[in-house]
Amino acid sequence: MQTACSGRNYAGVTFSVINCDDDERLPYNITVSWWKTEAKMKPNKHKALHSAEREFGGTLGATCIPVFLPLTVLYLLSVCRSPEASVLQWPPPLTPAAHLWDPLAAVLVVGWITLQSFLYLLPIGKVSEGLVLRDGSRLKYPINGFHALSITAALLIVCVLLGMPLGYLFELILPLAVCAIGLSYLLSMYLYIRSFWAPQLALSLGGNTGNPLYDFFMGRELNPRIGDFDLKYFCELRPGLIGWVVINLGMLMKEVELRDSPSLAMLLVNGFQLLYVTDALWNEEAVLTTMDIVHDGFGFMLAFGDLAWVPFTYGLQAMFLVVHPQSLSTLGATGIILLNGMGYFIFRKSNSQKNQFRRDPTHKSVEHLETIATATGKRLLVSGWWGFVRHPNYLGDLLMALAWSLPCGMSHILPYFYVIYFTSLLIHREARDEKQCRAKYGLAWDTYCRRVPYRIIPFIY
Ligand code: NDP
Repeated sequence: MQTACSGRNYAGVTFSVINCDDDERLPYNITVSWWKTEAKMKPNKHKALHSAEREFGGTLGATCIPVFLPLTVLYLLSVCRSPEASVLQWPPPLTPAAHLWDPLAAVLVVGWITLQSFLYLLPIGKVSEGLVLRDGSRLKYPINGFHALSITAALLIVCVLLGMPLGYLFELILPLAVCAIGLSYLLSMYLYIRSFWAPQLALSLGGNTGNPLYDFFMGRELNPRIGDFDLKYFCELRPGLIGWVVINLGMLMKEVELRDSPSLAMLLVNGFQLLYVTDALWNEEAVLTTMDIVHDGFGFMLAFGDLAWVPFTYGLQAMFLVVHPQSLSTLGATGIILLNGMGYFIFRKSNSQKNQFRRDPTHKSVEHLETIATATGKRLLVSGWWGFVRHPNYLGDLLMALAWSLPCGMSHILPYFYVIYFTSLLIHREARDEKQCRAKYGLAWDTYCRRVPYRIIPFIY
């Protein structure tokens, strides 16, 4: 049972530490000197939090997901490129093993990670502090993701003008996915092993159960860093997210190769998803308060999600359109643009409203909103976007997801994979967040739920 942390940490002070999760006093004292601790110097036999509740189906889920999801990525990509594009096709259009590997793909993946790491390290943009950690410290993060996107775009334009065949990404997509999956496995193993050298307070509360399979999956260490380089923060929004729109552009170039010009459907898919990625990087600072950064350890779940799942499944629509061209009427396109615009409006306004409220509740854009007090001292919004449903940002995100699939027509289910998967992800995420909020805010959260009864879709869910 998670309890409020007592035992605060201050620079240069020796004190005993309370394990916040099971309320047990740890069997040693730690001398804190700024952000380093003596305990960091030698491998720790950490006391596992066996009481920690298991998520994602516990050990069974943590064993099956790392096998099943990478295969799903390869399966979806294979089906998407087949003429039938049918997920129920039997036998499935599996790609021969020899076509899954290409050394060029490995070079491109390593080059891509190196480029994005270099851009991450550039001393441009501001530096922000994350939330206060369990040891009382706050980590610093470079906010230069939008710069990374802009520089990458400029480099790509130069490369395309110099004749680089970006459309070849279509041919290379399966070997690229194999390399990204391999990289996420290697990274997760590295993260798991190095976590045994991390101080106890640097571990995530949910990924330190003592079960190796589960901990490998959930991630033991909360904020693994090499020097100032934050591995989880880097992976969250850079290589995978920017990689996704580069792959989309590759599909557009492939369409140009095949049919001389990009279709309206392809332009819409590229435009909508570019807007989404640009928005995420423009508002990069907001990621510092998300569940992924604040709560989840860095293990296979996030590494695979960031490096392989996002870039290779979120853009299936563009890949589908290369093999299955669609014609869109002006009316249809207008309706889809309006749907995406409405989704984006709800998504952006609601996220900005909460972020502004959490940063400065006295700001004139949020001071008039009705709130309820909680025992933690933090207040909860019960009017404005957060009085409409409990997760208005998820509602906007789902409307956008639908708008990304509609340009692919109604003949196949495959381009709707993202919206179907994303609906289940957000329902699950909402349940996880709800549980954490109930643990944090207790009765005040129940009052909020009574005041705002619908979770994501008004009058339905
Ligand atoms: P949210 O931005 O929805 O934040 C949830 C937190 O907000 C709660 O834990 C609570 O934290 C705070 N909160 C909840 N209700 C209120 C309220 N009434 N008043 C004030 N604060 C409240 O979390 P996510 O990280 O799940 O989502 C962020 C965005 O990322 C969303 O738009 C989502 O759609 C998107 N997303 C996209 C994904 C993708 O793959 N495309 C994957 C996951 C998310 P506290 O009180 O501690 O501040």
